[in-house]
Amino acid sequence: MVKLEHVDKHFGALHVLRDINLTVSRGEVLVVIGPSGSGKSTLCRAMNRLETIDSGQIIFDGQPLPAEGKALARLRSEVGMVFQSFNLFAHKTIRENVTLGPVKVRKVAKDAADRRAMELLERVGIAAQADKYPAQLSGGQQQRVAIARALAMDPKMILFDEPTSALDPEMVQEVLDVMVGLARDGMTMVVVTHEMGFARKAANRVVFMADGQIVEENTPDEFFTNAQTDRARDFLSKIL
Ligand code: ADP
Ligand code: MG
Repeated sequence: MVKLEHVDKHFGALHVLRDINLTVSRGEVLVVIGPSGSGKSTLCRAMNRLETIDSGQIIFDGQPLPAEGKALARLRSEVGMVFQSFNLFAHKTIRENVTLGPVKVRKVAKDAADRRAMELLERVGIAAQADKYPAQLSGGQQQRVAIARALAMDPKMILFDEPTSALDPEMVQEVLDVMVGLARDGMTMVVVTHEMGFARKAANRVVFMADGQIVEENTPDEFFTNAQTDRARDFLSKIL
C-alpha cells in the first residue's frame, strides 16, 4: 500500500527522518512507537504529504506521492488522518463534520452523504449525538467522530497520530475498541501509539523509532517481551 525508500527530512539543521525504509502492506496494521521528538508525527505527515521530504521516495498504491493539484487532493482523501487533537469543525454539527468532506471533495450527493454519515456514526457508537456540536461531546466521543469522518472519505489507509493521548484515561478504551474493529475489518492502518494493549491485539508489526531512525522492527509480542536494543528496552521501561 505504501513504501518509503531512503526517506530523509530536515527541519533546518535538525535531521528528523534518517534513511527511513518501510513498507506497509494492504490490510496491515503497523504501530509506530518511540520517544517524543523521534520523528513519528513527521513520518505520518510525510505519508499524506502534509510534510515534504528532502530525499528518497514514498510510493502510495503504486504511484509516487503527488506534489500538488487534483492528484494531491485525491491522495489526501485516500489517506485518512486522525490526530491527537480531534480537529473537528467547532461550528458544524457532528453529522456535518462527517458529510463535509464527501460532499465538498468527493462530490457525493448530500442525502447519500447523510445516510453514509449516519451509518458510520452508528458504527462508532455516536448516532444519537449526530445533531450536537463537538463541544457537547466528550473527548472520546469527539475522537470517534474524527474516525467516522476519516472513514466517510472511503480511505485506502488511515494514519493515527497518538489518537488517545489527549483523552482522559476512562475514554481511551472506547476509541481503541473502534480502532481494533477497523483493524479486524481489514483497514490498512499506521498507528502512532504507546498503547501496548492495542498493539498486541491489533498490530501486525511494531516499529520503534529514535532520533529519526527506525531502530527496531518486530512483531508486537517479540517487541514488548524481548526488545533487541538498549534504546528500545530503556524506552519500554519508562512507559510500561
Ligand atoms: P514525535 O512525533 O516523535 O514526537 P515529531 O515528528 O513531531 O516527533 O518531531 C521530530 C522533531 O522535529 C522534533 O525535534 C520536533 O521539535 C521537530 N519538528 C517537528 N515539526 C517541526 C517543524 N514544523 N519545524 C521545525 N521543527 C519541527
Ligand atoms: Mg508526535
